[in-house]
Amino acid sequence: MAAQCFKTDVLVVGGGLAGFHAAITAREAGAKVIMVEKNYSGTSGHSTFARDMMLFHEEWGDCLQDWRDQFIHIGEYINDQEWVDILLKEGYDRFRDMVNWGMPFYLREPGTTGFPGDDHPYGNAVMSDEIGFPKPEEEPFRYRHQRTKYRKSTAIIKFGKREKLMDARKKALSIGIEIIDHVMMTELIKRDGRIAGAMGFNTRDGGVYVFECGAVVMACGSLTFKPAYFSVQCNTGDGVAMGYRAGAELTGMEFGTGMWVCKDVDSVTIDGPVAELGLTEDCFTNGKGEEFLDDTAHLPTNIHWPLEVHKGKGPLFHEPYNYDRSNFEDALKKYDETAEGPWLTMMDRAGIDIFHDRFEQYMSFIGNIWPGGLKINTKCETSVPGLYAAGDSAGSNFTGPTYGTLGSGMCHAAVTGHRAGKFAAEYVGERDSVTFTQAEIREFEQAVMGALERGYGFTTEHVLTRIQQTLFPYEVRIIMKEDRLKAALTMIEFFRDHLLPKTYASDFRDLRNYHEVRNMIVGAEVMLKTAIMRQESRGWFFREDYPRRDDENWLKWIIAQKGQDGEMTLSTQDIPMEWRGDLSLPYEERYMLQYRLEEE
Ligand SMILES: Cc1cc2nc3c(=O)[nH]c(=O)nc-3n(C[C@H](O)[C@H](O)[C@H](O)COP(=O)(O)OP(=O)(O)OC[C@H]3O[C@@H](n4cnc5c(N)ncnc54)[C@H](O)[C@@H]3O)c2cc1C
Repeated sequence: MAAQCFKTDVLVVGGGLAGFHAAITAREAGAKVIMVEKNYSGTSGHSTFARDMMLFHEEWGDCLQDWRDQFIHIGEYINDQEWVDILLKEGYDRFRDMVNWGMPFYLREPGTTGFPGDDHPYGNAVMSDEIGFPKPEEEPFRYRHQRTKYRKSTAIIKFGKREKLMDARKKALSIGIEIIDHVMMTELIKRDGRIAGAMGFNTRDGGVYVFECGAVVMACGSLTFKPAYFSVQCNTGDGVAMGYRAGAELTGMEFGTGMWVCKDVDSVTIDGPVAELGLTEDCFTNGKGEEFLDDTAHLPTNIHWPLEVHKGKGPLFHEPYNYDRSNFEDALKKYDETAEGPWLTMMDRAGIDIFHDRFEQYMSFIGNIWPGGLKINTKCETSVPGLYAAGDSAGSNFTGPTYGTLGSGMCHAAVTGHRAGKFAAEYVGERDSVTFTQAEIREFEQAVMGALERGYGFTTEHVLTRIQQTLFPYEVRIIMKEDRLKAALTMIEFFRDHLLPKTYASDFRDLRNYHEVRNMIVGAEVMLKTAIMRQESRGWFFREDYPRRDDENWLKWIIAQKGQDGEMTLSTQDIPMEWRGDLSLPYEERYMLQYRLEEE
């Protein structure tokens, strides 16, 4: 089948929230825009699962300094404070965009004031039964979690329905954006050091797609490794890998995320339903029946849990909340309809009542969900001219080593998406696009389809399983140590050099798997090399062999890039002096949360 060729100004890769903001903004700025999505844009991506978005607005009484301080404390002085300010200040305008596109949000019961969290964890504001479109001056329902020493300032709005991105899709189509679904992009194309296009294939019929364009916005989400217990499987670091191969710099890649998995259900468990009711007194016990967590909630869940197991005190149990569930049935129904929902339903179906049952949980690595990605400046430009990045594909360093606050992923996706679309449209306005020759197109076809033609060798499933077995155990990427990281890297390099060249795709569907494992291997290699390099602990980044923050040597970002010789180069960039906080403070005051291994 001959390749299909398309010409556009801006190509947006990925149809999640960042992709829609980028596409709509670029189109409204006058650019011709095509959005390509490997699933179906409108129902795909992490954005589909997100239930809420952080929203700052001074006119509603929010204090900029308090919100900034929260980010900086949680980011432990290595977040990019310029990006923190941009997210806080521009989130409101992006929220208004979404309201105008027809996305509903939860409203506040008239007459209720403040926001939850003032007196009571869920305070005075009451969520209305109605969803709707708040007027500019009208504050929607916002809530905040008062669960840690740091997380106390920010507030979050709630999307009014699960299929919210379908409203964005409708808006995008109405203004002339061409949406191409079920096409996976596999490689960027450069000419004279700039982006000139991209290639991919249709996962249904195997047709090769070639795009000639002035700019690409990479909005294809995060780097995860398809854990069976995690509902979203589409984000395999394709953007990071494509950008890396095209020579773009990556940053923040050493930071990753673990998730609590309920052993009996093999599913991630989230205390969302309980937390949203303001009932947040979690109790966890170890194998000896001891309660082992203190009030430092956002550290223990990611570090102290697996550390407890690492010390030989596992397994870990979630103890019953012992609230009378029947008092909350209406609220739970609302939660189930609007939010992530599936986890509660899955637990229920498995016969585990999170209110009343004790169940075993463990922490497993997922990938690089929020931090890390293609290094961007405040125009969302990467280091390759014509390549922009947004959302989870973008390395803005807004959040540092720890997830800043609930709702910040969607705020980041919306704000970076808008900026990427705006500046990409400006950029293409100044340039002529290229036209590829037939010979070049034949080369692209070969690059996309090669694995399909191989016909025999290792299966993609085999390679995926090996990657997962290497990275998922908590002692590799959560409780880290140099020798274990190096052992894992040796495995990944082996897969790269000896398995991947002999891996074949059995059909078009499997060709997608092939390109995904290829990209995951790039992501894993960057992750492990950068994690080996950072010889300290900070936030959710924990090194057993360096269990303290090292302000003298590690107030730095790590940058990874493909060198001229094809080898990965690593370098560092200093955090500006004015962002480092008060370095004269004793360690214990500067870092309110200490790791258990530091005490011992
Ligand atoms: C379960 C879950 C719940 C969450 N809840 C919240 C929340 O309540 N609030 C919050 O703020 N954040 C939340 N987050 C984080 C938040 O969802 C993300 O930060 C945000 O959705 C990122 O948006 P995005 O557009 O960058 O990526 P995504 O929404 O993930 O979109 C990326 C899209 O790119 C597509 N794609 C990938 N590779 C390719 C390719 N090669 N070619 C073509 N298309 C490709 C994918 O199929 C996908 O549709 C949650 C995340 C998860 C996983």
